[in-house]
Formats: sequence, C-alpha cells, structure tokens
Amino acid sequence: MGDGPVDPRRRVPRTDTLLADPVLAAATVTLGRDQVKAVVSHAQDRARRGELKPDEVRDAAVAALPTPGPRVVLNATGVVLHTNLGRAPLSSAAVAAVVAAAGHTDVELDLATGRRARRGRGALDALAAAVPDAGAVHVVNNGAAALVLAATALAAGREIVVSRGELVEIGDGFRLPDLLESTGARLREVGTTNRTTLADYAAALGPQTGFVLKVHPSNFRVIGFTSTTGVRQLATLGVPVVADIGSGLLDADPLLPDEPDAASTLRAGAALVTASGDKLLGGPQAGLLLGDAELIDRLRRHPLARALRVDKLTLAGLAATLHQPGTPTRAALHADPGVLRERVERLRDRLGADGRKAEVVPAVAVVGGGGAPGVELDSWALSLPERYAAPLRTGDPPVLGRVVRGRLLLDLRCVPADADEAVRQAVLRVPGDD
Ligand SMILES: *Cc1c(COP(=O)(O)O)cnc(C)c1O
Repeated sequence: MGDGPVDPRRRVPRTDTLLADPVLAAATVTLGRDQVKAVVSHAQDRARRGELKPDEVRDAAVAALPTPGPRVVLNATGVVLHTNLGRAPLSSAAVAAVVAAAGHTDVELDLATGRRARRGRGALDALAAAVPDAGAVHVVNNGAAALVLAATALAAGREIVVSRGELVEIGDGFRLPDLLESTGARLREVGTTNRTTLADYAAALGPQTGFVLKVHPSNFRVIGFTSTTGVRQLATLGVPVVADIGSGLLDADPLLPDEPDAASTLRAGAALVTASGDKLLGGPQAGLLLGDAELIDRLRRHPLARALRVDKLTLAGLAATLHQPGTPTRAALHADPGVLRERVERLRDRLGADGRKAEVVPAVAVVGGGGAPGVELDSWALSLPERYAAPLRTGDPPVLGRVVRGRLLLDLRCVPADADEAVRQAVLRVPGDD
C-alpha cells in the first residue's frame, strides 16, 4: 500500500453512519427503513460516480427524502379558523379517538348481532343528541358535499330558488352557484344583491321548485340599505327550505350573535340544515346534514351519498368532538385577553433575558374563513422586527404570525398555552442582531 491519494470512493460515508444522522434517523420512523436506505444508497452511488463530493452525500440524501405529509405549524396569526392551516385543530379527545380508530373498528357492524349496521352510528347518534330539533342527521365529507348532495337528491333537473345576495364564493375560486349547477339543478335567482323580500321568493315558486336555499354569508358582510328574508318567513312558503349555515354552530353562542346555529335554524322552520364540521364546531372536516327525517333518508339513499361517504377516522373524531365539546377552537374563541396578555409579557421577559427585544402590543384576532366576519376578538401579541417572519415560517416547527406595518405580530390566542416555550425557542433560533 502506497501513500498516494485516497480513492474518493473510499471516503463516501457509510450507510450506518448516514442512518445515524438525526434527520435521516427520524425519517426511518415515518417512511420506513427500506425507503430511507434506498435514498441513502442512491446518494452514495452518485458520490461514487463523482457526481457528489463525499461531504455532500448526507445533504443530498436529506433533500431526496419524499415530501412528508402536512407539517404541524404554530398558528400565531390570530385567525382562529384558518383554512390554509387546516381550520379547526382537534381536541385531545378527538385526536385519541382518531388514533384508536385507525385499526379495525366496528364502523359498519353491529357487534351484538354480527350484522351490518348503519355506518358511523356513534357519530350520528352524538350529532342527533346534540341537536334534538333534528328529525334525523347524516354526515358527508365537507360542507360543500352536503350542499351538493341536497341539490342532487332534491333539485336535480329542477330549480333552487336563492337570493342574488347569497350567491357567494367560498374561497380559492369555488363559487356556490357553480357548485349547485354542477348537480344539474337550475338556479332561480331572486331579489338583488342588497335586498330580497319574501315576495321575491314567492313570485319565483312553481312546479319546478326543488327547494328554497338560504345561504349564510359566512365570509363577508353587506351593510347599508339591506333587507334579507329569514328562514322563519321562508318557511311559510310551503316548499322545503334548505339552510346552509356554514359554521357548524349547533347552539347559539352569545359571543357570536350573528352566527346562525343549527338548533335555532331548525326551530325557525328549515327542512334541512347543512354545515361544516371543522369550523366553529371545532371538529374534523365533515359536512353535517340535519333536519326532516324523510328528506335525510332520501339523501342518504341517493347513489351520490356513497361517493361522499365519510372516513372512519373522521367519524371517530367527530363523535369525540360532539361528546366533549371543549375544543381548542372554543378555547381560542373564548380566551381571556388578560390571560393572553400575561402569556405574551412572560414571553417578552424571557426573550429579553436572552437579549431579544420584543414588545407586547394589543391585537385584534378574528374568527376567520369559518364565520363571523364582523366579530373582532381583543387579543395580545408579541411584536418583533419583520425580518423574523420568514425564518420563523420556514423553521421547525414553523411559526406563523402576521406582518403589520413593518412588525411581525405573534398573537397567542390560537397558540396552545403549552406551546409558548416552543415559540420562545423558535424565536431564539433566528439569528439575532437587534
Ligand atoms: C364554509 C362554507 C361552505 C363550504 O364548506 P366546506 O366544509 O368548506 O366544504 C359552504 N357554505 C358556507 C356558508 C360556508 O361558510
């Protein structure tokens, strides 16, 4: 053996060394050892062919790992229900139920008789018990699916009578009128953007009418010279009224006086109420249908119902949410501003001890895409220089705030109290020069 240059292939890091790297080791848990090993040996091969330097192998392997699923983030935006952040975080009871349901379950089997049973009856029973005014209930994939099922089963080839003031876009370019017309129902628009009277609806009714639709404007408000016709009046017209309340509030909440709830809407005479599971209800993504037993039966027997069938994990999470309604969403909505202020002050003091200058400022939190567009929630935020925004967003865990006039505001209203320390550490990981 001479003392000549070492063959570069000999310096390619060994597989066991690479698999001991913290990031690659963590990936073996989520992706499986075989998949990570394949990624590692591909990077080693590239190094042996001279395409990578030996000290680039680890980074190349990490970069080549398959994209993980959605990442857990800390929501310091002050937006309680942020659609881009997955809306409602589940309660710990719901999380436990989802995990438990991930194996084999009796989702569609009656253990007492050994026969097939109605799918997800635990969640359906819990929903029915939570809203005794409903003759029957059904659950589908999301609020949009609930509307599509109602429109298809009750109005395909016929007309849905709806106010021009309620033909809304629900987000990301999806518009309710397009969604409804995709079912083969025709929209019969009545009234104007700002005013629609009972007489407008009455004049549009006829043999072609499938139902009258009432849509809650959950993401905007029309103010000024306005007049709308409520469910109570619409219910006098003698045709079924379908009310899309959006938010999934089951009972009135004094904090949100303008948000319709399922119980009151049914008592006002709606034949059917549709709502989302992951907005103010604080549960998993789901579409709730509550109302007249005969109508619900038609919906759940319609062939389309099978395509909108809800997953067992969702059913488990929904049942747990209904049994224990103390959800993180409710906690965020009802958080005491005084307590939030103390948490922010403590965070500022501890960051100050580490040489980070931050301020405590009053902030205004909102309910978000899930509803109550006019409601402002008094809150408190940690204010940092704007330069913190990008590194916090791309850090681990990502922390999302809101930039206002050159400052990054971290509003703690939607951050669980036990995550304040994680926020502190994330801030400290941003190189500090202020
Ligand atoms: C959110 C919302 C929808 C759509 O519900 P998804 O659960 O997002 O499908 C429909 N109508 C109204 C009034 C809403 O607020």
